[in-house]
Amino acid sequence: MAGIHRTAGAQVGRRQATDRADRIAGMQPPPWTEHAHCRGMDPSIFFPSDGIGVQEAVAVCAGCPVRDACLDYALENRIQHGVFGGHSERSRDRLLRERRRAARTSVDSER
Ligand code: SF4
Repeated sequence: MAGIHRTAGAQVGRRQATDRADRIAGMQPPPWTEHAHCRGMDPSIFFPSDGIGVQEAVAVCAGCPVRDACLDYALENRIQHGVFGGHSERSRDRLLRERRRAARTSVDSER
């Protein structure tokens, strides 16, 4: 699928090469990408340079049936650029911090 796969490929090209990026670049697109709303779209839409561009990308993601899988993919692979699963890089950073905080709170409450 051109959308998420090209999107992931474009993000890899935009950031410093790392082992993780190399691994992502060599991966086959996950099966869920067959149902992505961004399939066939210009990947540059998902790498906006301003907040208005982010809103456009997020609007495309809003009704995407594989939004959760896409977000998980970006979080698990620590993708640092672009909109995935309806979240910008800042939004994903915030989500990761919240999840870490919640995990710590959970561990602390079990002690
Ligand atoms: S959530 Fe957005 S970036 Fe992810 S597959 Fe759907 S349309 Fe593409």
